[in-house]
Amino acid sequence: MAKKQFKAESKRLLEMMINSIYTQREIFLRELISNSSDAIDKIYYKALSDDKLVFNKEDYYIKVTADKDSRTLTLSDTGIGMTKEELENNLGVIAKSGSLAFKKENEAKDGHNIIGQFGVGFYSAFMVADQVTVTSKALGSDEAFKWESAGADGYAITEAEKDSIGTEIVLKIKENTEDDNYDEFLEQYRLRAIIKKYSDFIRYPIKMDFKGQ
Ligand code: ADP
Ligand code: MG
Repeated sequence: MAKKQFKAESKRLLEMMINSIYTQREIFLRELISNSSDAIDKIYYKALSDDKLVFNKEDYYIKVTADKDSRTLTLSDTGIGMTKEELENNLGVIAKSGSLAFKKENEAKDGHNIIGQFGVGFYSAFMVADQVTVTSKALGSDEAFKWESAGADGYAITEAEKDSIGTEIVLKIKENTEDDNYDEFLEQYRLRAIIKKYSDFIRYPIKMDFKGQ
């Protein structure tokens, strides 16, 4: 399938993320977990007004899996999921949060802390990953789709297999360089600390699985 290009504004934010000069790369996890939590909230609120939908608390959770061998960090949730159109519209463009405009405005005032304080959203995954794959199945749909991108040169959406409703995001963690350590984002103690620091207030359980650790 042909690769689609990111919209210009999105591409700029993406490039900022890829060439991240920010010290707080760890906030990508906060962003992804908060998206998962939002997606579960959406099912929760739907269930309040839809008799056919029952919200059993124990069925809703976020799971973080680190696998050093494959260098992957996987986030999955049992949230509302995304249709093909939603993958296209939500991940192909910058979120409405306006964080890019905000950042531009304040860059001069405060060198590098802006990103740590304000949501940059999904694209922050590219601070630590050189390949991001999002597989999702939307509530009410029996088809799943996969959104894949290796960064600024675009993304592709293809049909996929997924049994349950929700979203799974696989980050292929970057290789270490002379200046930058990325291995830490596969380490159990580090991931636990990041989750504790930024996501302690999340209302749904965050399960963790550390392969071979
Ligand atoms: P924001 O959360 O501020 O809207 P993001 O860039 O974090 O911006 O996410 C963009 C959009 O992508 C979200 O608004 C949501 O519609 C969709 N999205 C991202 N992650 C998920 C997820 N895990 N489940 C369902 N939808 C998601
Ligand atoms: Mg978000």
